[in-house]
Formats: sequence, C-alpha cells, structure tokens
Amino acid sequence: MFYAELLQAALAEPDWSILQRLAEIAVRLEMSLYIVGGPVRDCLLRRTGTDLDLTTEGDALTLARVAARDLGGAWKKFERFGTAKLYFPGRARSAPIDVATTRTETYAHPGALPEVTRGTLQTDLVRRDFTFNALAIRLDGDHQGELIDLHGGEQDLQQGLLRVLHPRSFEDDPTRLLRGARFEQRFGFSFATDTLQLIPPALPALDQVSGDRLRHELELIFGEAQPLKPLLRLHDLGVLHQIDPACVVDDWIAARFQTQTAPPERNVEEAQDDRFTCWAWLTCRLTESSLTRFSQRVNLARAEAVDVAQVKALRDAQGTIGMLQRRSEIYRALAAYSDRALRTALTVIDRPAAQQNIGLCLNELRHVKPALDGHQLQALGALRGPGLGRLLEQIHDAVLDGLITTPQQEEDYARQFIAREGQDP
Ligand code: ATP
Repeated sequence: MFYAELLQAALAEPDWSILQRLAEIAVRLEMSLYIVGGPVRDCLLRRTGTDLDLTTEGDALTLARVAARDLGGAWKKFERFGTAKLYFPGRARSAPIDVATTRTETYAHPGALPEVTRGTLQTDLVRRDFTFNALAIRLDGDHQGELIDLHGGEQDLQQGLLRVLHPRSFEDDPTRLLRGARFEQRFGFSFATDTLQLIPPALPALDQVSGDRLRHELELIFGEAQPLKPLLRLHDLGVLHQIDPACVVDDWIAARFQTQTAPPERNVEEAQDDRFTCWAWLTCRLTESSLTRFSQRVNLARAEAVDVAQVKALRDAQGTIGMLQRRSEIYRALAAYSDRALRTALTVIDRPAAQQNIGLCLNELRHVKPALDGHQLQALGALRGPGLGRLLEQIHDAVLDGLITTPQQEEDYARQFIAREGQDP
C-alpha cells in the first residue's frame, strides 16, 4: 500500500478518485491496470504532476469506452496504436488521461519510428528510455499499490542516475539522448557511467532521425524551466554538433537564455512565442546558408523559418536601422517584417538606436492609420491604379510624420495630389 499512498499524495484529489474508479472498472472487466512512466517517477521523487499514463494488459479501447460511459467522460481512440485518451469534466482538455494496451516495440533501423505490437507489461517496460521511466504501480483490486520495478529504477532514482535499459538503446532511438539531457538537468541527476560511455558511439545514429522528431525534442527542452542547462549538456556531449555543425551554444546564446524567466503559466500563444525566440537565438548569428540548412534539418515550419531569417536580417542591418530618422522612413524600412520578428529582434540587437526605432515601429507606427481609405479617395476623384497606391502611401507617410493630423487635411492633401498629377498617371 505504501506506493498507493505516495501516489495519492502526489495527485490532486479528483485525479486520485478517477484512478480509483478506473481501477474498479478494470476489475469488473477482469483487466489489470497500471499507472506507468513519468507519473510514477514523479511520485517517487515526491513531485506533483498532472500527467496520468495508464496501461493494461487487456484491451485499452474497451476499458476507455466503458470508463467514458460509466464515469460521464469522453474518449478518443487511436485504433492503430491500441491507445485512447479519456477526458473528464474538471480535468483540462489539454491534459487527457492516456490509456494504452501494453506493447512491444521493434526498430527496423536505428532512428526509425518503432513498429508496435501487443505485448506484456514486461515488454512494455523494457522498451522505455531510462530505468526510472520503466516503473509501474498497479492500481486494480488487491494488487493496488504494488510497484513493478524490473530494472532497478527505484534505486537509480534514489541515487540520481539515468541508466538505459540495454546497450543499443540510444542507437534504437537517438532522441533518448535529448530526453536524457532534459531529465538529467531537470532533476539534477547524472548519466550512470556505463550509460555515458554509450553516448559517443551512438551519435551518428542521430543522422537517421527525422527533423520533426528532433524539433519536437528541442522544443520540449525550450519548454523546461531552465532550458540552458540541457542545451549546454547536449553541446558538450556533441549531440548538437551532430544535429548540425552550426548548432552551438556559445556565451552569447547562453546569455540570452539566462535572461529568460518563464512564468509558470504560459498560454498556447505565449509558449509558441517562447519557442520561436529560442530558435531565433540559436540561429540569428549564423550565415544565411547555415541558417537555411539548420532550419531544414529541424524542419521548422515555413512561417518560423521565414521569421528566424527576418530576425537575422534585422540583426545584420541594425547599423542602418539605427540611422533612420523620419518616422515614415522607419515604418517603410520595417514594413516587410513580422511583429514576431521585430519583437524577437529586440532581444538580439545591441545598438540602442536600432532598438529604439524597432520599438517605436512596434508600439506606435504600426498602429497609425490614415482616416481616408482607397474607396473614399476614389470618391474624391482618384482613379484605381498605381497612382492611387502612391497617394495612399503619401498620405500615410504624412500622417506618420505628423505633417497631417486631421481627416480634413488628408482630404485637402488628396485634392491637391489629384489636381497636380491628374486623375491617374
Ligand atoms: P515529462 O515529465 O517530460 O512529461 P514523461 O516521462 O512523462 O516526461 P513522455 O514523453 O510523456 O515523458 O513519455 C511517457 C513515458 O513514455 C516515459 O516516461 C517513458 O517511459 C516512455 N517514453 C517516452 N519517450 C520514449 C522514448 N523515446 N523511448 C523510450 N521510452 C519513451
């Protein structure tokens, strides 16, 4: 029962109640039920968490369907993987309970995604990354509270050690190198000596890992409370260099990450912005060709690849940007850049004059709009075409520069323009 009590202490009360009721349903269906992986590790570390990963040697889809029906929740099945997500009122939609049938994984070649077949709890645990993530606590019936520790995970946790389960583990799935550095630095642990020795020969296997998987792992690191620590570790281990020779964490980059103080609660957009900023810090001092290659290697989404290139361009052009004087000139010079690129550029530019102009553009100039639009100008006699575009731009510039301050002045300006240039060139 000791482990059941630990689990109860680590979980919020409603989560513990849900687990109890799921366990009752498992008993009724004559299935085993375990909580497994991260939440078990966290509860043994006396850390509270919200992840609930469950596994059963029975049919997870049946268990999820019956649980959703009997407990008033919703469920979503992923037939191909034999997994389901359960949603209950009171638990955030973004934090469903994962239920899976125990599985076996085999790798066609290093770095490939695993082929998954149904397995036993033993095979399900042995496929995991580190011994402390290969722990399960049984939840059903009289077995409730039994710790299943087939690989010495509890002892490794007590000693603060990361240990893989078999010597080919990193080759099978080189993303474990990134996961390992993340856990090591999050918990203040160390790789066990024999595990550390497996890292250098496994590095070339990273070449087989898809950009999407690498990006995902790096973004999980960016989302840690202190991302710099695992990044430095990965730098020192040669992992970043293997991903791309341009991917380094030098003092300049480290200083940027040190300024980052992530508030505990970030909404989705803020978290996305934070991730983008991390990519920009890693890439904005690269040459254009290195930046393109690195963006491709981690398969950055097109919009992000464009914006990190913009941050670099802004940083490179800071001398020129700092010299701009007229407000309309500043507005035009920065018009093609996204808000996100401009905001991020403020964190990588050191010239105060360029900072000031970019800040002015973001905070003020981008919000200045003339009163008259194209339709109203046409009503005054301007014809559609390039002349109209020029007129709109000139009025906008004059408003930005404070030469025109009222709608009446805009109208006067437009009438003079039309009289001077004719109705259309
Ligand atoms: P976190 O606290 O960062 O969420 P977690 O351990 O819960 O960590 P998940 O990515 O949710 O991490 O994975 C859940 C479990 O699945 C892990 O605890 C581990 O047992 C297993 N796992 C995840 N990724 C891998 C992998 N690449 N190789 C082997 N096992 C993995």
